[in-house]
Amino acid sequence: MPELPEVETVIRELRPKLKNKKIKEVRVMLSKMVAVGPHTLPNLRKTDNSVAFKFSEVIKGQKITDIKRRAKLIIIDLQGKYAILVHLKMTGQLIFLDKKHLDKQLRLLNIENIKPVRLPAKSTHVIFEFTDGSRLYYNDFRQFGYLKLVTDKELPQVKDLQGFGPEPLDKKFTYEVFEKLLSRRANAQIKPWLLDPTIIAGIGNIYSDEIAFYAKVRPMRTIKSLNDKEKKLVFKGIKKILTDAVKHYGSSVGDFVRPSGDWGTYGLLHKVYGRAGEKCYTCGTVIKSLKFNGRTGSYCPSCQK
Ligand SMILES: [Zn+2]
Repeated sequence: MPELPEVETVIRELRPKLKNKKIKEVRVMLSKMVAVGPHTLPNLRKTDNSVAFKFSEVIKGQKITDIKRRAKLIIIDLQGKYAILVHLKMTGQLIFLDKKHLDKQLRLLNIENIKPVRLPAKSTHVIFEFTDGSRLYYNDFRQFGYLKLVTDKELPQVKDLQGFGPEPLDKKFTYEVFEKLLSRRANAQIKPWLLDPTIIAGIGNIYSDEIAFYAKVRPMRTIKSLNDKEKKLVFKGIKKILTDAVKHYGSSVGDFVRPSGDWGTYGLLHKVYGRAGEKCYTCGTVIKSLKFNGRTGSYCPSCQK
């Protein structure tokens, strides 16, 4: 599932490509992937062709002015009163191809032996065609993501934009802010705390594991058991791990593909995530896995105290 660094990679790569592009046509192949209005979508959605028709009709002819992110939601601003919200959820992909490269062969899964394909693929559900002949494809294998058309006025009502904690890479997210957030949940354990989007936005399973390793603390340590040095390392780890991950275009574990069709390379730098049973690069101890609330994590029992 894409986390902050992956979604940030998507908007950074798409911004220079999409800014000022005029949308010539929108093709919706699977109408349950799109919505109109600010309401929350259930996981099981019904196909409604009239919604897909309205989605395409309103967007057709509009110009993109900017592309932004809040938590893991992508906001494509249109000139005038509309915006398109895109949530990749589990397996959503946004891929941009210019006119010259529309027949480019892409490997849509970071799994060995997967054959490269041309877009649209079986998992392509929405295509934006621009007046210069370039295209933006929305692919989604598991179909949990969505594209939602809202008016600027409706934006404050969108639930997927509400209730999030601070953006960890924002300059306003200082050590003082972090310490305040910690002190409010002294009994919480550090990994579940990092995973809670109402505390800090955008951190998931991959980066919470890597942050805990960086800070040399075990994922299930309680916050009140952390000393000052450990707290500072967790804070430093949040900034450093997420910044490094963005620099390496995120982690392509499974389905994450950059808008260029290339993979993110941060997965090659994971110290513990996805490495249970393998040896720690630092000390040689076998990385252990842990289970909590139906989720899993990984840590080094020797480097992490
Ligand atoms: Zn180790």
